[in-house]
Amino acid sequence: MKQNALQHAKTFANSLAEWFVHGGRDYPWRRTTDPYAILVSEVMLQQTQIATVLDRGYYTNWMALFPDFATLAKATEAEVLKAWEGLGYYRRARNLQKLAQTILRDHGGRFPRDMATILKLPGIGPYTAGAVASFAFDERQPLVDGNVARVLTRLLDDDTPIDSTAGIRLLWAHADTLVKAATSARIHNSALMELGQTICKPANPSCSLCPVNAFCLTTRATELPVKSKSVAITEITERVLFHQDQNGVLLVQEEGSRRTGLWKLPALPESLSEAPAIHKSKYTITRYRVTLWVHQSPALPPLIGKIIPFAELSSLAMPSPYRRALIAVMKHQAFALE
Ligand code: SF4
Repeated sequence: MKQNALQHAKTFANSLAEWFVHGGRDYPWRRTTDPYAILVSEVMLQQTQIATVLDRGYYTNWMALFPDFATLAKATEAEVLKAWEGLGYYRRARNLQKLAQTILRDHGGRFPRDMATILKLPGIGPYTAGAVASFAFDERQPLVDGNVARVLTRLLDDDTPIDSTAGIRLLWAHADTLVKAATSARIHNSALMELGQTICKPANPSCSLCPVNAFCLTTRATELPVKSKSVAITEITERVLFHQDQNGVLLVQEEGSRRTGLWKLPALPESLSEAPAIHKSKYTITRYRVTLWVHQSPALPPLIGKIIPFAELSSLAMPSPYRRALIAVMKHQAFALE
């Protein structure tokens, strides 16, 4: 006979914690209670896989460059964007720096402990607030991300759409009930997230290995969670220009977009629409699947961008799709010259 996790919250939380304490994964942000270090990891992981953040050194590199709120607050925008290069969604890096400046200016350099104050900080939503409060201060505050939502809907066999107002309210209420019963909020929230990452996976949940199987009410795990909206992907084409001379490569610095401050290959001007295409690649951003064409022009188009010396190219912050395209094109040019 299965037990309802909400009605047996204490036993449920104990089972979950026991599993996590003995087999939980070791991440750098789990070895610290420094709110800054935890915040950085949470912001990096918002739209990026753990493997990318860790294996490619983004987290350790960032922490080495900006080890605390004070250092990040005083860094230049170019330094911040360069350290973030490759993670995408650059608004996250800018918001992190704004937050660091607020912590220094309004909170004496110390991250606040109470939820009401945390939630008033710029760029901090309920998830990040819950993460920092529970992981740094062990406060019994809930958090719900995609993994937690999946685990909770399956545990409770709940098909309320998780992107509906009612579904969101229910998930947070359930997460709150469970964390309030936990001995350690830090362990409980980490365990719930890890259960979703490693056992209660989207397509193939490992129910036979699940430490809270005795509390799971669903018999249709792979049909849950339910979503009401599906996001349509739009195909678009982007054409950019590659021009180099003996001094360097033509680039432009973005303005007025979420990539403001970053460098890229300039958009192909109408006057050069006949320039031959030399490279094609694809990338996805938000709900767009972009086919990126690079065209080459031997002539320097007037009034566009700036020739960046070759030696400076690697130190400029550039969105990954353009960096990859530029590297591919320059390699091709080098071979062509040999
Ligand atoms: S028993 Fe299966 S579906 Fe239920 S929480 Fe565990 S892994 Fe998920």
